Amino acid sequence: GGIRSVSVLGATGSIGDSTMDLIRAEPERYRVEALTGNANVAGLAKLAKEFNARFVAVADPARLGELRAALAGTDIACGAGESAVIEAAARPADWVMAAISGAAGLKPALAAVDRGTTVALANKECLVCAGDFFMSRAAAAGAQILPADSEHNALFQALASGNRHELTRVIITASGGPFRTWAAADIEQATLAQALKHPNWSMGQKITIDSASMMNKGLEVIEASYLFALSPDEIDVLVHPQSIVHGLVEFADRSVVAQLGAPDMRIPIAHCLGFPDRITGRAARLDLAKIGQLTFEAPDFARFPGLRLAYDALRIGNGATTVYNAANEIAVAAFIAQKIRFGAIARLVEDTLNSWVRAGNQAPLGSADDAIALDQQARNLAATLLPQIAA
Ligand code: NDP
Ligand code: MG
Repeated sequence: GGIRSVSVLGATGSIGDSTMDLIRAEPERYRVEALTGNANVAGLAKLAKEFNARFVAVADPARLGELRAALAGTDIACGAGESAVIEAAARPADWVMAAISGAAGLKPALAAVDRGTTVALANKECLVCAGDFFMSRAAAAGAQILPADSEHNALFQALASGNRHELTRVIITASGGPFRTWAAADIEQATLAQALKHPNWSMGQKITIDSASMMNKGLEVIEASYLFALSPDEIDVLVHPQSIVHGLVEFADRSVVAQLGAPDMRIPIAHCLGFPDRITGRAARLDLAKIGQLTFEAPDFARFPGLRLAYDALRIGNGATTVYNAANEIAVAAFIAQKIRFGAIARLVEDTLNSWVRAGNQAPLGSADDAIALDQQARNLAATLLPQIAA
């Protein structure tokens, strides 16, 4: 095809970095429309100049002056604040990477979706906090959602070998994280440094802690449910410490189709960037003879209750997955601040979910503002339950 115009939301982050690495490798294929960040003005301005972006935005409204100064002498337009990030997302581009972290990524991703463009979706919160609504907005606008999360990208690729009604099950793999073989009592007491030692993937801090608690896999079960319209019974998790097989799809005839690759986010991102074509990758080629062995085990829901809670939240429905995510974000922040033990993360999520269900205010989410309001309400609820968990 011709030159593809691309925008990268969250360009200064870990996914943003992998995306820019792929774009940098074949500059003649792409024209960069917009790039966004939050507070890292220097990093964003450096990227904007390197790629000659047309527009850049930072979410932090106090940094407009700093951003303008960093771009002085260029003709790159810029803005600051949430509305500027949404403006960046809504600018005409053939392809948008949605890689802002957290619930702040929802409105910008929706702005891109509403234009009917192709959206590579890394931000899990769009689906976990507002899944039904997000997917129906994409369908209404004719926007193609390409999953950038490695497991979902694997499922997306494997699904192409059958029809939806022939699918019987999907399986996403989990490395099991640093505590895969630990006893429950040791997981309970794990330190921040221990939780941050991911065996295979190099990622941001929040998602690394979520991998250690397996909350990340819980979020991904929820993500898969909304992305592919699957019931919780159709989604299985398989622990696979080598992180080479990322996702598998089982069809009615009992064929199972899997996607494999080195644990490098540039592989799923390259699939999204090239789709429907295949571009030249930047990750190491897979050398199975060198790896020698791929092993698999069932997940342990007793030692990793966060995973079980994701299935519970999906079955409760009507915003329960939003509550699950919000409570986890509060719990992870409290763990990083050393206010709670590692084992208390899942307890806070469970207590928040139970308390919210008992209050009986569940209703379907009809808008981004509904999802954001519930997210805030659940954060407040989790914060009020935090002291008794910490004790
Ligand atoms: P990072 O923390 O590395 O990067 C986050 C990006 O979002 C940065 O560009 C940051 O800007 C920007 N940002 C942060 N807060 C805001 C805000 N309030 N408004 C606008 N922009 C903001 O995260 P990751 O790249 O690791 O993850 C991004 C998303 O992708 C997450 O949802 C994560 O779950 C998902 N994901 C990540 C994977 C990974 O391997 N890293 C794998 C699969 C999914 P600044 O740099 O200025 O702070
Ligand atoms: Mg993943």
